[in-house]
Amino acid sequence: MEGGDGDGGAADKRWWGPRIWRVLHSLAEVSDRAGCGPAWRGVLRATVELLPCELCRRHFATAAAAIALPVLGECRARIRHGLWAAHAAVGGGGGFTEEQLAAEYGCDGNRDAVLDRVMGLMGEVGTAFRAEAVLGRFRAGALPDWERAVRGLVVLLRAPPVVVGGGGTRAGGGGRRRR
Ligand SMILES: Cc1cc2nc3c(=O)[nH]c(=O)nc-3n(C[C@H](O)[C@H](O)[C@H](O)COP(=O)(O)OP(=O)(O)OC[C@H]3O[C@@H](n4cnc5c(N)ncnc54)[C@H](O)[C@@H]3O)c2cc1C
Repeated sequence: MEGGDGDGGAADKRWWGPRIWRVLHSLAEVSDRAGCGPAWRGVLRATVELLPCELCRRHFATAAAAIALPVLGECRARIRHGLWAAHAAVGGGGGFTEEQLAAEYGCDGNRDAVLDRVMGLMGEVGTAFRAEAVLGRFRAGALPDWERAVRGLVVLLRAPPVVVGGGGTRAGGGGRRRR
């Protein structure tokens, strides 16, 4: 199944590719919380493991490792650019520009709508991959790991921003909140 080409089912990259990319690009649009870098690193690693195509896994492992993410600071600009570049590199030159990212994935600035859509797509991928046993028995753990990593990032990105010293913000459930 090198290249993920199939018969149009969930094992076909034309099925899972657009959905997984949409999960990643959508998350990137709302990654304006300081401290989400480590959670993103987990999502990128889990995505590499999830991809049902060896060639894609190799390409994406290299592309993901090249995205520099701060541990403490805000990472939206870097992750959205890095993912756009990684997608463009394998996307066959469809002409999708970086300027189109917000309109395509940002749900007009509605954070909850973006994250709800991510959860819906994650569920769709999980259901289809399980139903069609896409990952086979050798990588059975990849799907729950991916779901856990995506869910963790969603929780972090849903949290209201917290004002920290110097006017920066980080995600948080308590403490002093910025309106
Ligand atoms: C993480 C990952 C890695 C992959 N690696 C490979 C690989 O190494 N080799 C391979 O052959 N296939 C790879 N694929 C699959 C490939 O990228 C496509 O998803 C698949 O071939 C289906 O192509 P498509 O033309 O239907 O749509 P896609 O390329 O999936 O695009 C879907 C939609 O995304 C939007 N889009 C297009 N370009 C961009 C961009 N640069 N940034 C944001 N949005 C964009 C457009 O609206 C487009 O209609 C990978 C998929 C994923 C999720």
